[in-house]
Amino acid sequence: MIDQLTTTVDNKLNISDLKPQHYAFGGRGDVWSDTAHIAQSGEYVTMCGRPMLSSNWVKMEGVDHIGCPTCLAKYNS
Ligand SMILES: [Zn+2]
Repeated sequence: MIDQLTTTVDNKLNISDLKPQHYAFGGRGDVWSDTAHIAQSGEYVTMCGRPMLSSNWVKMEGVDHIGCPTCLAKYNS
């Protein structure tokens, strides 16, 4: 029997690979917890519905990949 819990899926997405009109967003907590979100140009919330009220720490800190699983799922759907 295969233990699927040991299977890790590398679903990280490099911010530099985002499609046009998409960019990374996250607050300080997202930088710490490695959950950078994806936002679409012209929107006021991230793809997972998080209001973008804080400074974009993901951009300021130079985070290089998306970490939010909900944003990744919507982006890839
Ligand atoms: Zn998200």
